[in-house]
Amino acid sequence: MRLNHSVANLPGVGPAYQKRLQKLNINTISDLINHFPSRYLDYSHTTPINKLEPDQEVCLKATLVSLTSVRLPNRKTLQKATVTDSTGSLQLTWFNQPYLTNSLIPKQQYYFTGQVDQFRNQLILNSPDFEPIKKKQLHTNRIIPLYPLTAGISHKWLRHKISLVLSSLTIKEIFPSSLKSRLPIDLNSAYHQVHFPDTQKQLESAQKRLSLNDLIGIYLKSALTQLDWQQRSATPITTTPSLHNQLLKKLDFDLTPDQQQAINDVFTDLKQTIPMNRLLQGDVGSGKTIVAVSAALQVVKQGFQTLVLAPTQVLAEQHYQSFSQLLKPFSIKPLLVTGQSKKKLPTAPLVIGTHALLHRPELIQNQKLGLVVIDEQHRFGVLQRSSFFNSVSTPHLLTMSATPIPRTIALSLYGHLTISNINTLPKNRKPIKTKVVSEIKRPQAYQWIKQQITTRKTQAFFICPLIEDSSSESLKTVKAATSEYQRLQQVFPDLKIALLHGKMKPEQKNTILKEFKSKKYDILVSTPVIEVGIDIPNANIMVIEGAQRFGLSQLHQLRGRVGRGEHQSFCLLFSSEISTTSLHRLKLMEKYQRGLTLAKLDLQLRGAGEIFGTAQSGHLDTQFPQFWNADLNKQAKQIAQQLVLLPKPQPQQLLVSLNPNLAKTTSPN
Ligand code: ADP
Ligand code: MG
Repeated sequence: MRLNHSVANLPGVGPAYQKRLQKLNINTISDLINHFPSRYLDYSHTTPINKLEPDQEVCLKATLVSLTSVRLPNRKTLQKATVTDSTGSLQLTWFNQPYLTNSLIPKQQYYFTGQVDQFRNQLILNSPDFEPIKKKQLHTNRIIPLYPLTAGISHKWLRHKISLVLSSLTIKEIFPSSLKSRLPIDLNSAYHQVHFPDTQKQLESAQKRLSLNDLIGIYLKSALTQLDWQQRSATPITTTPSLHNQLLKKLDFDLTPDQQQAINDVFTDLKQTIPMNRLLQGDVGSGKTIVAVSAALQVVKQGFQTLVLAPTQVLAEQHYQSFSQLLKPFSIKPLLVTGQSKKKLPTAPLVIGTHALLHRPELIQNQKLGLVVIDEQHRFGVLQRSSFFNSVSTPHLLTMSATPIPRTIALSLYGHLTISNINTLPKNRKPIKTKVVSEIKRPQAYQWIKQQITTRKTQAFFICPLIEDSSSESLKTVKAATSEYQRLQQVFPDLKIALLHGKMKPEQKNTILKEFKSKKYDILVSTPVIEVGIDIPNANIMVIEGAQRFGLSQLHQLRGRVGRGEHQSFCLLFSSEISTTSLHRLKLMEKYQRGLTLAKLDLQLRGAGEIFGTAQSGHLDTQFPQFWNADLNKQAKQIAQQLVLLPKPQPQQLLVSLNPNLAKTTSPN
């Protein structure tokens, strides 16, 4: 048997079981042993019969006295057993398991496990599991694993198969023996102990070791990427302070200290011969654009080209407007490139666009490319990003993200990047008043919205529920938005309402947004994945339908579309299905304003996938609590830094065995 063999090679796994296992993403033997328990029951200590208490989960060591099977009127059968130990005797019952009369033998000793119940004032065990004390136990008398299951697959069945696999192969250690002393337990033992722990302590060591494997994979990838990056050369770009000061004078605000620091960081990087690889993090509305504009001005004035990439057409256009306006005094006119752009275009020193830009190599002046700015980087496919970086000289790279990332994740995801943070929002921002609105308050809320719009001449966004978990919009989502649009026309007959969704043509979207910005409409109904980066200062109300479906970070991003202008802004969260847990979660939006705080809460409540979308965080999906442990992360990072120095191709090979998916990605960032 080998790890990459199909589970069909296992005795007792025919096509039916194979299908069921597939539902658990188990195709190979390796998948099977990597299907880790989600929790455990500690049956490692036996309880004497006279110490039993109702509701306890217990393991007994007792002798079978008698077992009978009786027919019940409803064609069912009932099996009743009496067992004893030195402290007393106890009734056990099962339903419809007549074969037990063959498998349980009087006078023999067994371990029985189950939850203590009460029946007519007597303690009993209902449907206990049992194993003879003479054989090795899998389901009793030990810490037993409980697995994520699917219909037709039981814990007992899985335990049996996993045990079979583990006893018939030895999992090879993947790290060099020089590392042995730094690992809590060897890999083979880790697999045994994570499934069938001998002690709680061994279980912890096993989980630690398996987390460490995952973490080392991530850090090794980071280290390899960083190494590759450091071996590249970039054209150093001199920055001119007087030029920068001229730009500052044109602004109608002062930079926040964090913005100044970020600009300093970027300018320092630009002067180096190693290309910049910096991530600029800052909440929505924290003012990241000006940092990119400052850098672009310097680069272009030194005679190099700058590319600015935005994830959507509307965002690209918005950047085009901001950059055009801010750089006009310097006679820099950007070129906008989207999927709609003409076939033949003269290139320019500053090109702003969507990923359509990546398919227009003639617009990229490879020799002169000095800086690439990527906005909202997590929306770009990893491979798409790499195409710039094949030439001899690597451009400096600045990525900007409004997705706040807790430190541990930042380290593991972006360990190879240098990071600048904009933590404080510009001074004049008022916190957005957020309210979770219950269904019965809906009419009142609508009344209030109408009043706000008519008396204060402000505008509102209505975001429709997330119907499918996908970044591209489905027809279903569009339909939902359309019917919400029609419904709201009935609710607000006197207000002007527009609809925006992803199936519209880009020109159509742009027209609607422009008209909304120029106050032609009072309300904009939109699907959730539509460009949320738009800057419409007069809109001060954000209504989110089906709010329970969004992660806190997503809600925070959506909420950030308001609160940009002079008016007090509001965010109303509607939710049709309100369980206590989702209500509790949504209430956090009322309490917290900072994206980072909400991201951390998201992580605790729903895991990393919530923040990044599953595609980017697949390798951060962990079941082990140790994964986020700071010390373990530190240790993993140190080990990875040691491993990356091994002679080629060892580091890459190690990465392949640690995490084949991670090894496949080739992007420099
Ligand atoms: P984001 O970080 O979300 O990209 P933007 O760069 O779009 O944010 O900035 C949001 C708004 O805040 C813009 O209208 C911008 O002009 C304004 N802004 C940026 N920095 C400041 C500042 N220091 N003081 C006041 N307003 C600012
Ligand atoms: Mg932005």
